[in-house]
Amino acid sequence: MSDTLAARLLDWYDQEGRHDLPWQQGRSAYAVWISEIMLQQTQVATVIPYFERFMARFPDIPSLAGAPLDEVLHHWSGLGYYARARNLHKAATVLVERHDGRFPEDFDAVSALPGIGRSTAGAILAQAFGQRHPILDGNVKRVLARVHAVPGWPGTAAVERRLWALAEEHTPAGRVADYTQAIMDLGATVCRRGRPICPACPLAARCEAHRQQRETEFPAPRPRRARPLRRVRMLLLRDAAGALLLERRPPQGIWGGLWCPPELGEESAPGWATRMLDAPVVAREPLATLRHGFTHFELEIEPVPADLCAPPRTLMEPGRWVWYNARSPAKLGLAAVVSRLIEAHSPHPAAATPKEQP
Ligand code: SF4
Repeated sequence: MSDTLAARLLDWYDQEGRHDLPWQQGRSAYAVWISEIMLQQTQVATVIPYFERFMARFPDIPSLAGAPLDEVLHHWSGLGYYARARNLHKAATVLVERHDGRFPEDFDAVSALPGIGRSTAGAILAQAFGQRHPILDGNVKRVLARVHAVPGWPGTAAVERRLWALAEEHTPAGRVADYTQAIMDLGATVCRRGRPICPACPLAARCEAHRQQRETEFPAPRPRRARPLRRVRMLLLRDAAGALLLERRPPQGIWGGLWCPPELGEESAPGWATRMLDAPVVAREPLATLRHGFTHFELEIEPVPADLCAPPRTLMEPGRWVWYNARSPAKLGLAAVVSRLIEAHSPHPAAATPKEQP
């Protein structure tokens, strides 16, 4: 493979690639799995501290499977895309129940785990066990679409099929773990979305998009659609100690399983509190709205502050409700925007909630 794409990439990787990432040390299947899931939609520099904290708390599959979901979500707070954490937890349980707590080496068994698609399964098996499998994450799609000037948006089945065929064609038989890391690294650091650094690229001489000087035209972007705006009113209800009422969201949908101030719908704060808590509350001045962008829609949150005047007479199930004290916060999974909301309207602004990204 003297002048193949793989050979060029491996030469580049030996000289320029990242060899000191925490999940590369020993390349255990568990560590590679956790890192691959964290790296979906998230950059390496952001992932490293999360990965280290996660591995310190959940060093192996049984410790992850045995932990409460809330604690797993707490360690994920700020990374976004929380379905990833819920799936990791679910998959760890499957591994304990069906695979003796070990990570399988069989492609079908790996890709049957919750949250693991074809590319992630291939990436884990290639890096942990040296098995030859092509991968096609966002970075690899971009590199291959540019090198071969593949037209069309990769979200369509035909373009994706073409890219998988190219990924298969270029994956070498030897050094597959390094090749997998190399092509992901090239996409992340050189063949970047906005400003590819073609003069530093080992594939420049055989890159069709570069030859045509049309690098950033590949891959074609998703056809534009206006994102709808959703509005939601959230009740910021405080008790006499200043703690804020949070409700655990249902497992499906946005922020599934995370904790959030209750949504009010069209109801007033006193009406809601009478119906749900059988408690009197007094509404306070309305607060400024907050915007948050999701992939498919824009969310506008109207915070509705109120104070509890007497303890609730309704029994509040502990798994569903919590009075959240920002000065000694419980270990709960909070979405980034909810942390922002709590921090912005906390009576104790010095009490930091977890650092947030998306
Ligand atoms: S030459 Fe430029 S566009 Fe082509 S693969 Fe390299 S960095 Fe990407």
